[in-house]
Amino acid sequence: MRIAIIGAGSAGITAAYHFLKETGIQVDLYEKGNDIHSRQRNEVMSGFGGAGTYSDGKLTLTTEYGGWLTDYMSERELEVLIEEADDIWKNVSGVLELDSKSNYEAVKDLEYSCSRQNLKLYPAKIRHLGTENCLLFIRKMYEMFGQSPHIKIHCNSEVVDLIVDGDRVTGLRTTENGETVEREYDKIIAAVGRSGNSWMQGIVRKYSLGYDLNPVDIGVRVEVPRSVTDHFTNQLYEFKIKYYTNGFEDEVRTFCVNPGGFVAIERNKDNLLTVNGHSYKNRKSDNTNFALLVSTKFTEPFDEPLKYGEYIARLANMLAGGDNIIIQRYGDLTRGRRSTKKRIEKNFVHPTLPDAMPGDLSFVLPYRYISDLTETIERLNTVMPGMSDPNTLLYGVEVKFYSVRLKVDGKMRSANLENLYCVGDGAGLTRGIIQASVSGLIAAKDILGE
Ligand SMILES: Cc1cc2nc3c(=O)[nH]c(=O)nc-3n(C[C@H](O)[C@H](O)[C@H](O)COP(=O)(O)OP(=O)(O)OC[C@H]3O[C@@H](n4cnc5c(N)ncnc54)[C@H](O)[C@@H]3O)c2cc1C
Repeated sequence: MRIAIIGAGSAGITAAYHFLKETGIQVDLYEKGNDIHSRQRNEVMSGFGGAGTYSDGKLTLTTEYGGWLTDYMSERELEVLIEEADDIWKNVSGVLELDSKSNYEAVKDLEYSCSRQNLKLYPAKIRHLGTENCLLFIRKMYEMFGQSPHIKIHCNSEVVDLIVDGDRVTGLRTTENGETVEREYDKIIAAVGRSGNSWMQGIVRKYSLGYDLNPVDIGVRVEVPRSVTDHFTNQLYEFKIKYYTNGFEDEVRTFCVNPGGFVAIERNKDNLLTVNGHSYKNRKSDNTNFALLVSTKFTEPFDEPLKYGEYIARLANMLAGGDNIIIQRYGDLTRGRRSTKKRIEKNFVHPTLPDAMPGDLSFVLPYRYISDLTETIERLNTVMPGMSDPNTLLYGVEVKFYSVRLKVDGKMRSANLENLYCVGDGAGLTRGIIQASVSGLIAAKDILGE
């Protein structure tokens, strides 16, 4: 059997790994970016390993976050698959211990104090690989595939189109060394990630694939002294908290918490800059950073959440001088004034991204977002005193773009095209390493008839 996997990110790699021990099949793994040895650090979204490669590899071992796979299977089924995917990451990376040294009673107390404030805390097991071990995992996978007689890696090889006969996919068209090549396959797994958004949308349009819209998440990255959050992060590593605002009844959530971490700029397609954060296993700052995101789902007549998020991010880039993101003290935001270089220098919390441009986020984010974010920060302050201190830093904007959600069944099979599987972030099904891996695993298992 001939199998093609499009995209060598978490989903594609996990699928390929599942085929590693199978004989009698030929797997071609296509990646439009560089191989792992020539891939540069600033190639964040693309290249062998995908978007997770230079992340700090926080594996969130929960069904609650990181994707929407519970829409396709029961919680219990997903839990079993998460365990299986985690085993792969654990065994190949060699990071055996979990980061949540949870004391059951202490976590229950935190949940209890949150509930009093209408904050919903989701305790989750976390395996924190750290940026260095995440890269090690990807390198090992690359070596293993390289040594396998039936897995072939094609880097710098962009799949431009599928070959479709009636309602069946029979192959693909790719560019290699500037030449277009066509190959036939029995099964194709599309695992193109967020950087493959526009490719996926082209496929959706061309072959009339069914889809639903996902929300767009827009907000800021918050940076506080570690002492403000340590009582949570010492127990949970990452606190995942949801809040529904009184003002607009919007869902606001914390995301990607980095105790001792660093704020980073994410360079997206067409030089669009957004904010992100990461942390190392062994190098720590004095701060904790995390994203605070407002989820918005558009209905009609406007149905382009990606465009909306991009528009807001471009506005922030423009006001930050073109090629930067904005930093603002919380105290300046609430007093209605911009932050300046001087105010940031004098600030008690020292930014871990010192080159960010001091400015005013209220010129960027609509009132609804500012109101949602400030209300949530004030609410968080009740369980993490110090959160709403004027010295708290906000970086903007952080936007999570999710692809349109392709119509698939519980085995990740396209509802419209036979022999096509759509998995991971690019199919709008997941938004984290572990659930992306799980979706790749499900497709691989189905192909093998498991
Ligand atoms: C900075 C950063 C930090 C993150 N930190 C974490 C974290 O700590 N924990 C966590 O769980 N998640 C994290 N994430 C999210 C996580 O990386 C993604 O959810 C995950 O990588 C999704 O996996 P994927 O395989 O679906 O897509 P990706 O990892 O994006 O891989 C898709 C691959 O497909 C390739 N591709 C696209 N189109 C084509 C084409 N036409 N032909 C050939 N190849 C193509 C791309 O180049 C890419 O390499 C982070 C993301 C970023 C950007």
